[in-house]
Amino acid sequence: MDTHIDTKCLHTGWTPKQGEPRQLPIYQSTTFKYDTSDAMGKLFDLEASGYFYTRLQNPTNDSAAARICALEGGYAAMLTSSGQAANFFAIFNICEAGDHFISSSAIYGGTYNLFGVTMKKMGIECTFVDQNISEEELLKLVRPNTKAIFGETITNPTVTVFDFEKFARVAHKVGVPLIIDNTFATPINCRPFEWGADIVTHSTTKYIDGHGISVGGCIVDSGNFDWDKYADKFPGLTTPDESYHGITYTTKFGKAAYITKATSQLMRDFGCIQSPQNAFYINIGLETLHLRMKRHCESALKVATYLKNNEKVAWVHYPDLESDDYNALAKKYLPNGSCGVMCFGIKGGRDQSIKFMDSLKLCTIATHVADSQTCLLHPASHTHRQMTDEQLKEAGVAPDLIRLSIGLEDADDIIKDIEQALALI
Ligand SMILES: *Cc1c(COP(=O)(O)O)cnc(C)c1O
Repeated sequence: MDTHIDTKCLHTGWTPKQGEPRQLPIYQSTTFKYDTSDAMGKLFDLEASGYFYTRLQNPTNDSAAARICALEGGYAAMLTSSGQAANFFAIFNICEAGDHFISSSAIYGGTYNLFGVTMKKMGIECTFVDQNISEEELLKLVRPNTKAIFGETITNPTVTVFDFEKFARVAHKVGVPLIIDNTFATPINCRPFEWGADIVTHSTTKYIDGHGISVGGCIVDSGNFDWDKYADKFPGLTTPDESYHGITYTTKFGKAAYITKATSQLMRDFGCIQSPQNAFYINIGLETLHLRMKRHCESALKVATYLKNNEKVAWVHYPDLESDDYNALAKKYLPNGSCGVMCFGIKGGRDQSIKFMDSLKLCTIATHVADSQTCLLHPASHTHRQMTDEQLKEAGVAPDLIRLSIGLEDADDIIKDIEQALALI
């Protein structure tokens, strides 16, 4: 039965048969039993589907991944140990030494470092672009060895909104997939596949988990990108994999080629798996995601409006504010609300911003974002502290920027706490 997304939060992924547990069980087992040697051999040859070792696949993980896949409207999905692993796999599955990809510069600090520093050491080059770049300028940056374009639906921490259609047009003109980190919007507020993205990643650590209890990631493939059409560019998917008995992923797995390769090759070799226990937690988180996102957005808009009207606040960025530079894009791509995260600066700059943060009582300073409790952080002295001023500027992170993540508390209590802290500066 085709259902609304709220219903999908509860009734996808795990579908118990008669007499089976209604709630997704935790298959806390490293290995799985077979009656004959031949039966297990077929699994290793990818001739039959089934489970043999949790590093490659586990039923709890697969069910949680299938639920995220259903919410995104994707074709196949896999869980990873973290959002970092998801973004690394998403790119490394189609890029190798000598390849190049393009990324918006306004992305999560950890991803920026992964792309700009660590992947560079692996011989993969990333060109960072301002997301307001014109289509013509973007096209000029594409090289014969460019393999992907990457962006975040709503950027962490600057909460700008990605223009999917512009980037998708360029990606598809030059025959590369558009990969989107949809962590902040979640599939409740935006489904990038509907706007031309080909692959979506998540840090499930954030809203999907929702309670700050488990680090995890997910990759979802729409199944829409035609790897065979650009076979020369993606030999890893379109020519035999000698490490897997000469299987050609696109021939054998069709629309599931990308996820199958990431599972059977990258997960086999790197082993960044999510534990079944954590997959169980995120599966529970998904059941209330639709309710929580609505509340996060309602409260965030109240708090952002309060901050905007406060004379001690220098500036506020929240895409749902009418006055925000990204409000038009938010209205287009996130009509039901963006997320619970905003950023702002206090008049008087960096020192006043830090003093304000230290004066809060209810809202806590935490290296976290997008969960049930209101928390905040100062990127220039926390997440982005390894960056130079120049890099901070490029990533759009002002030195006074405070990232505030609105939780599920009563919005009036959050505002009251902010009010008392502002009164002290
Ligand atoms: C947190 C985050 C990541 C990294 O995820 P981890 O689960 O912490 O590894 C990637 N992208 C975005 C947008 C994030 O907010």
